[in-house]
Amino acid sequence: MAARSQQLGSRSKLPMRPTTVLLTTASAAAVLLMAAVLFGSRWTPSSDTETWVSAGVRVVMNAVSSDQGTVPLATVPDPSDRLLGGLLSPDFDDRSCLSRYRAGRYRRTSTHALSPHLVSALRRYESLHRLCAPGTPAYARALERLRASSPNATAAGDNAGDDPSGGAAAPCDYLVWTPDAGLGNRILSITAGFLYGLLTDRVLLLNGSRGDLDDLFCEPFPGSTWILPQGEFPVRGKLGIDTFQSLGNTLARGEPLAGRPWVYVHLVHNYLTQDRRFFCDDVQGELRRVRWLVFKADNYFVPGLFLIPRYERELARLFPRRDAVFHHLGRYLFHPSNTVWGMVTRYHGSYFAMADERVGIQVRMFKWAPISIDDFYGQILKCTHRENILPATVAAASRAAANTSAAAAKHKAVAVVSLHGEYSDRLRDLYHEHGNAAGEAVSVFQPTHLGAQHFGDTQQNQKAFAEMMLLSFSDVVVTTCVSTFGYVSQGLAGLRPWVLTPPDHGKAPDTPCRLAPTIEPCFHRPPHYNCRAKARGDSGRTVQYIRHCEDFPDGVQLLES
Ligand code: GDP
Repeated sequence: MAARSQQLGSRSKLPMRPTTVLLTTASAAAVLLMAAVLFGSRWTPSSDTETWVSAGVRVVMNAVSSDQGTVPLATVPDPSDRLLGGLLSPDFDDRSCLSRYRAGRYRRTSTHALSPHLVSALRRYESLHRLCAPGTPAYARALERLRASSPNATAAGDNAGDDPSGGAAAPCDYLVWTPDAGLGNRILSITAGFLYGLLTDRVLLLNGSRGDLDDLFCEPFPGSTWILPQGEFPVRGKLGIDTFQSLGNTLARGEPLAGRPWVYVHLVHNYLTQDRRFFCDDVQGELRRVRWLVFKADNYFVPGLFLIPRYERELARLFPRRDAVFHHLGRYLFHPSNTVWGMVTRYHGSYFAMADERVGIQVRMFKWAPISIDDFYGQILKCTHRENILPATVAAASRAAANTSAAAAKHKAVAVVSLHGEYSDRLRDLYHEHGNAAGEAVSVFQPTHLGAQHFGDTQQNQKAFAEMMLLSFSDVVVTTCVSTFGYVSQGLAGLRPWVLTPPDHGKAPDTPCRLAPTIEPCFHRPPHYNCRAKARGDSGRTVQYIRHCEDFPDGVQLLES
């Protein structure tokens, strides 16, 4: 957020002790509060000044006063707080987005502390977004400048020159997200883009040109839109690794980035060494002087931002617990539209609402990890029985366990979420046909089984998002390794999932599942680039709190320590 000035600072590889973190962050939050009061109007047109200051400071002061005048490092929201401890802005009309203030009530209470600094950064960002979003004079000016400097800015081959304005007068910088891959990947790449926007004071806009974002999410920022208006944006055509204006190609040609009217940042899994330099400090310095960044990613590149020295201090203040980045930003950004929320509440009301315990099982079959339905089903049973997620059936249980069947029945509802219907059918039959050792009532359901994945289909996206939400209401989550669909669900839930391990040469592995070390998603294709040595590096061995992922060893993820 704010804080180009706060992005400086030397990089320490030593972990901070908890007391140091507490003190540092407490003073930082106090400074932030003052800064909010002193500098809040800088971004705010005079007519809006009061709105920004009252919204931003009110929330921060609440956080302060809730602890008898001291600034807490981070707070865990009160379960009855519809604003989730200040994560959500109060400035929305409730009816326009029924899920926004309600979804929190369906989930287990978050145990993941929220820092006042993040709350304050979000209010500040909202103010910036309101000032710069489509429909504002600032946006019209920025767009006009982009058009003028680059009249035929097709991705095919325009050799863009410097911004004739020098860029100095325009107050707003933009980051335009371009869709790629499935919904899980998209939610993760939007989140990563938003965090980059917070760190660099860039306004995030989504290019939903194919209509597949329609009626999916509510607007996350009050009084403005995050959807890029169609038709007027001059950067058109297919963006990819060969795009002339890409960061990688510009660097490869030895040309400067600073001052270009726009640059395309390719963060898709096939990106090359020069594209990976996006995660280098010097390149970030140059990009500060580029008004429009257009990016495409199929990756959760958040851990990569933690590798960039200039953002390290600010990130530590935003996320004193580094393992809850997606949890907080996901709950902040992604609110189902009223249509999707209707599906979610119907599923929940029919199946989950009456249960004592809710279990979500996400079953994803990947072409690159073939396994038969029989084997995968066996693996799921082995995992859920071994980890006491589901009770063993009487036939399989020991006699001693069967004796406990007189115990008071508990109702366990199991939501199986999959493109395929076989797993829930078999589980349902299993518990229908057998009693179970624990005497629990087990009901199994599956909201949809669409058979195959279709890209760019509004209804499929809506169903997928509704099912991610439903999984996030579970008390226990079982997910399939490497699935971004699963990552989103576990992150919104705030639960470390039991992750089904990949098949071993087409067969169920000996260890059916493992408890994930973190709720954070895996960044599957980290840069693995050493910016100082300008050579290949290992992103999983650069800082203490970023490690290789258990479910995808070439990837990296954020851990608390
Ligand atoms: P990933 O491929 O597992 O990383 O997850 P993505 O969400 O990125 O892409 C898979 C896409 O396939 C989803 O976005 C859905 O459109 C569809 N899909 C996969 N599994 C399910 C499921 O269990 N339910 C529904 N409704 N759609 C699914």
